[in-house]
Amino acid sequence: MLGRIPRSNATLPTQEILLRLATFQWNGRRHVGIVSADAKFVKPLDLSREEASSGVLAVINRAANLQALLNSNTSDLSVADIKLEAPIPMPRRNIFCVGRNYHAHAKELSASVFKDNTADPESWPIVFTKVPECVVGPNDNVVLPGAASEQIDYESELAVVIGTGGKNISKAQAMSHVFGYTIVNDVTARDVQMRHQQWDLGKSFDTFCPMGPWVVTADELDGTRTRVRGWVNGELRQDGQTTDLIFDIPTLIETCSRGITLYPGDIIATGTPAGVGMGLKPPQYLKAGDTVRIEIDGIGVIENRFV
Ligand code: MG
Repeated sequence: MLGRIPRSNATLPTQEILLRLATFQWNGRRHVGIVSADAKFVKPLDLSREEASSGVLAVINRAANLQALLNSNTSDLSVADIKLEAPIPMPRRNIFCVGRNYHAHAKELSASVFKDNTADPESWPIVFTKVPECVVGPNDNVVLPGAASEQIDYESELAVVIGTGGKNISKAQAMSHVFGYTIVNDVTARDVQMRHQQWDLGKSFDTFCPMGPWVVTADELDGTRTRVRGWVNGELRQDGQTTDLIFDIPTLIETCSRGITLYPGDIIATGTPAGVGMGLKPPQYLKAGDTVRIEIDGIGVIENRFV
């Protein structure tokens, strides 16, 4: 979508900058920058404080002018010296999320989360949302909600970031609307999720959407064929391939845009592979001190401690 950006800085090793766009705190304010190929440096873009406040969304909105944002004399920063935030720290509206989108995951929760669902799972995806305010950064703490839930679970997911908006987008056109990809942990309070007919409450607790570490643009990563893994305290729990999605990314974009205009920066979380805590026998829910690490090939890692 954006095309390749010519090299403009000596620490970026190739002729073209890999388009990994990060939102971060540095020097007392929020910035947006391009992450180097080795993920050790970030080059801040020339955005005003106000523009940078919306994170990568500012770049999505100014995609045609990205070249101009690079023509600054700012030097590269070490990633060790900044604090990464969610690439879109406050999405403009709820995050679209897809339930039951890997066969093995649907099977592991068939006796619990999905038992009362009468919709034909092969015809239409389950879609719910998370409120924007629950988004936190790729290394931020997730706060356990105390008495509100005792069944906190993780879900490692590839998230699609919309670039060009649209309504009634066809499958054939859908991929041209993708700006890029990021990682989310669709943290879930299982007891609350199942208590209500709708899932939104159990999915939207404060801090329940770690996101990051950056957005990788669609010309750098084929999100339709990448690997999604999740670990709890170093133990590999989830290991899936997006080629195994029941409803693929074009189908999800077509579905979510039926009668609803999608806007630049909208986020669609594509569902989680098998291996969530509820699917274990017996179930194993998260407790204070646990760390969940999610890695998606071609994007990177988010790692969040539960407190
Ligand atoms: Mg999910």
